[in-house]
Amino acid sequence: MGIKTGKAYIESLRDDRDLYVNGERVGDVTAHGPYKGIINEMADHYDRFHDPEIQSRMTFPSPKDGAPVSNSFLLTTTWDEMLQRIDGETLRKDHTYGLMGRLPDFMNAFVTDVAAVPHVLGHKDKAFADNAVRYWEYCRDEDICLTHTLVDPKKDYSQGIEGQRALKFIRETDAGIIVSGARMLSTLAPVSEEIWVGPYLPRLPGEEDYALSFAIPVATPGLTFVAREPYASGRSRYDRPLSERFDEGDALALFDNVLIPWERVFVCRDVTVYNMMGPTFPGFLALQAIIRGRAKLRFMIGLASKIIDVLGREEQAHYRSLIGELCAYDEMADGLIDSSAREVLTKANAEIKNAANPDFSLEDHLKEMAALFAKPERGMVGMSTLRFFVPQMNKKIADVIRFVGSSSLVMTPTAADFAHPKIGPLLEEYIAGAGVTAKERVQVMKLAWDAVSTQFGGRQDIYETFFAGDPELGRQLHYQTPKRAGYVAMVDRLLAETNAADKAAD
Ligand SMILES: Cc1cc2nc3c(=O)[nH]c(=O)nc-3n(C[C@H](O)[C@H](O)[C@H](O)COP(=O)(O)OP(=O)(O)OC[C@H]3O[C@@H](n4cnc5c(N)ncnc54)[C@H](O)[C@@H]3O)c2cc1C
Repeated sequence: MGIKTGKAYIESLRDDRDLYVNGERVGDVTAHGPYKGIINEMADHYDRFHDPEIQSRMTFPSPKDGAPVSNSFLLTTTWDEMLQRIDGETLRKDHTYGLMGRLPDFMNAFVTDVAAVPHVLGHKDKAFADNAVRYWEYCRDEDICLTHTLVDPKKDYSQGIEGQRALKFIRETDAGIIVSGARMLSTLAPVSEEIWVGPYLPRLPGEEDYALSFAIPVATPGLTFVAREPYASGRSRYDRPLSERFDEGDALALFDNVLIPWERVFVCRDVTVYNMMGPTFPGFLALQAIIRGRAKLRFMIGLASKIIDVLGREEQAHYRSLIGELCAYDEMADGLIDSSAREVLTKANAEIKNAANPDFSLEDHLKEMAALFAKPERGMVGMSTLRFFVPQMNKKIADVIRFVGSSSLVMTPTAADFAHPKIGPLLEEYIAGAGVTAKERVQVMKLAWDAVSTQFGGRQDIYETFFAGDPELGRQLHYQTPKRAGYVAMVDRLLAETNAADKAAD
């Protein structure tokens, strides 16, 4: 089939999913007001693939039947293919201003990462590898929109995994496995077609029942989603330019004796494979997330610049310096995308070689990769950028926006105020900006407020901190790098030189 249309995407959501929002079962999500904005954005995303002006930059011919499919599924093995992938992802992320962390590109890249390591998934039973590769092909050729959950909901941190009612294996049948329990946080779930469940924190020996990976339609019997309250509330686009368009939705996924057909199971009670998936991924997921981060950085630099323009402060050195620093981050982002892409290519080709090696041993691979760092030449640019550069850059930009906007971000009358016969003219008289009307000035401030301070903006902030996993865990992982011993050795060398010089001087 290949790329789908926006209309087909909307139709696919009418599946009577068991979704609850604000204490009500939604049923037809396309008829639920708060999701209309995001569904329109998603439909637009799918329709753009059919635009003859850009289609060749966003697609490649499916190996199955030659139909155009999104290049976010491209398992790139050459630099030319990588450039094509980066170009398509940049187009898509720029179009949505980097504000949609879970554009379908995210999971498309994820299933591509999974398809790159069939030798890991199939180390005991090739059927699981075949399932994963077939699923990647299915998502690619049917253009499936996926949500995902990797994290156990923690109701009580003092309890082990059993006490948390995390998703677990219950039993198996001829048809598949039965699972029950909860997972979170399923961003985009209200408007996705399928859910992918997989690993994040490593499982321990004894936790086999929790070592699962699979994918099923969101409308599978026994699967219920409880969504957080939507941030789109029917306000005008003038008042909430982002909340009304880009709220992707987040949900808790509750499984009650759900049957997962065997052909949709990728990991079943295998702690080793569960733990090895992430570390062996080439990193298509990370790369697309960094491209998304750069798009948002650029949008936010533009927004900060616009704020100082409408406030008449563009000539002030302090403001220029703040924004100048952000422009330098954008240069860094370009370099990080380039080096992450080269790293992904190296890793993808290494894993393709492993997959073709009849003597491949997961145990040996595990020894090599156990601490993620044991083979420093594999590189950690992509994950380091994702864990540190992107979140820190986002904090920085949000702070700059708040600083340059200041009270103007708060003093933002509504579209209704501007339409009022008495108040509208008064607002124009008292709060017009530099070369712009009051209504235009306030529009810029409302955009900034929505980006960093409304419910939508607050969620963006927490999303940027946590979407790539717990930052604390990231720091602990990086502490393990064997490179650190080399850094200490440098200091020892200088100390030794100092001592030798002192001795010679005595
Ligand atoms: C907006 C948003 C969207 C998300 N979307 C998705 C999604 O679509 N799919 C998905 O699977 N997940 C998603 N996530 C979940 C994300 O993967 C997790 O938030 C992330 O992995 C961190 O886990 P946690 O929230 O359970 O944090 P916790 O593990 O509860 O940690 C909370 C805080 O405690 C600190 N901490 C924990 N343990 C220690 C320790 N031992 N020492 C010191 N500090 C510690 C952490 O650093 C962190 O700051 C999303 C999260 C957010 C916020």
